[in-house]
Amino acid sequence: MSSKENDMKSDELPRTLRERAIDLLVKNPGKTFTAKELCEILEVESESEIYAVLKQVARILRRKGIDLVFSQPVCKKCGFVMSKMYAKKCPRCKSEWIEPARFMVR
Ligand SMILES: [Zn+2]
Repeated sequence: MSSKENDMKSDELPRTLRERAIDLLVKNPGKTFTAKELCEILEVESESEIYAVLKQVARILRRKGIDLVFSQPVCKKCGFVMSKMYAKKCPRCKSEWIEPARFMVR
């Protein structure tokens, strides 16, 4: 089991969204979540907030030797695979019919 020495700076603060996201992902290895699902579970209103947090989460987990991986978003109209974790529109055909990225730890 891993050590936890630096996990907490203060135990008076409520847990941050970042900590709750890490907790959720680490406790469900192999399970995939879209940003939308994470919004619902973590009670966040905007998906863009989730994406911002996931970038920080990926860095933190990497230091612990855990990989946060995601499937790249795919355009459901033309099949174009996006290189970023988030795209609102397909850069090729401009369709907004996008299969979103799914995140998980493994
Ligand atoms: Zn497309």
